Amino acid sequence: MNYNKAIQDYKQLQGHKALQLRAVLFDMDGVLFDSMPYHADAWSKVMTDAGYIFSKEDVYMNEGRTGADTINTASMAQFGKPATAEEIDALCKAKCKVFDTYPPTPRMQGALELVKKVKECGLTPMIVTGSGTPTLLNRIQSNFPGLFDEAHIVTSFNVKRGKPYPDPYLLALEKGGFAPHEAIVVENAPLGVTAGVAAGLFTIAVNTGPLKEEVLTEAGASLVFPSMPALCDEWEKLYQAF
Ligand code: MG
Repeated sequence: MNYNKAIQDYKQLQGHKALQLRAVLFDMDGVLFDSMPYHADAWSKVMTDAGYIFSKEDVYMNEGRTGADTINTASMAQFGKPATAEEIDALCKAKCKVFDTYPPTPRMQGALELVKKVKECGLTPMIVTGSGTPTLLNRIQSNFPGLFDEAHIVTSFNVKRGKPYPDPYLLALEKGGFAPHEAIVVENAPLGVTAGVAAGLFTIAVNTGPLKEEVLTEAGASLVFPSMPALCDEWEKLYQAF
């Protein structure tokens, strides 16, 4: 991969004169935690029980949306009307309940090493997630000790509109006091990539799930890596390019 070209293309596209890296905004599910197989299983189970057609692949394609938005999008497509607040609440609770029956989610391989490298470079690591799953959010500090300031974590509880809207990333920039040309995004989901690009950020995709790489490129990712260890191994070269 040609990092310099990817950076040049990004600057041209977004109209930035320079990219002065100060922060790295990490998505959580499928980036920091290897949680997507559990989410896919739990969402497809709960939605199917509620009468929706919702496969595991649908979960991956909707990844990044808030729970409410995921349900509403499916309800509009399949029943022609948004879900009621009661239904959304019940389904989100049922999903979290199923999720909690699984063993504790493992950290994504390579994630701890990469966040440490980012911090050692003097950059600020932040988390920007569409998740509203307390079980996982509560495990951030124990799995990444001393790496993420609580004030630098944006979740589904902080925004009205989740990914693919740019709102969560824009809020992270605001919270951290960064401009779009001072931060980059690490995402695994197509809608997450769309959100990062819409916020004006250089967006790196890591393809940790079952989707084709093209889906991430088409969503606007400047670079696509096959895994977190692959990105971690390349970090020094990439940082040099920035
Ligand atoms: Mg994700």
